[in-house]
Amino acid sequence: MPRKKVTAINRKLLADLLAASRSAYESPQPHEFSCFLIAEDGIIFEFWLGPGTIASERYAILRLHDLPIDFRRVGTAHSHPSGDNHPSDEDLRLFAQTGPVHIIIGYPYDMGSWRAYSRDGREISLDVV
Ligand SMILES: [Zn+2]
Repeated sequence: MPRKKVTAINRKLLADLLAASRSAYESPQPHEFSCFLIAEDGIIFEFWLGPGTIASERYAILRLHDLPIDFRRVGTAHSHPSGDNHPSDEDLRLFAQTGPVHIIIGYPYDMGSWRAYSRDGREISLDVV
């Protein structure tokens, strides 16, 4: 069965991502939150922390090797404590390797401070459902 194009994110899941970003920011380290996104029927409905993240002082780095095969995994989300929600060069490399849909959540981690991007770093719109 062909995978359906991702067009939306579940509202509760989005609220959970914002809360996780906020709590990472308030924790001693790392200040950045990151995870994989899981979708079904074109809607992102779950996040997954992966097989262990490597936490440095500032970043929670997603491990890309040893990932189990999961066709529902469609991309990543991570927070930017700086508040700038545009992808960095490192983010663009991550996007290219990990799927079609990526979310960056900037400080102050509210409904207006997140953006979604395609694999090649172009901004895309996601419905909140
Ligand atoms: Zn980033």
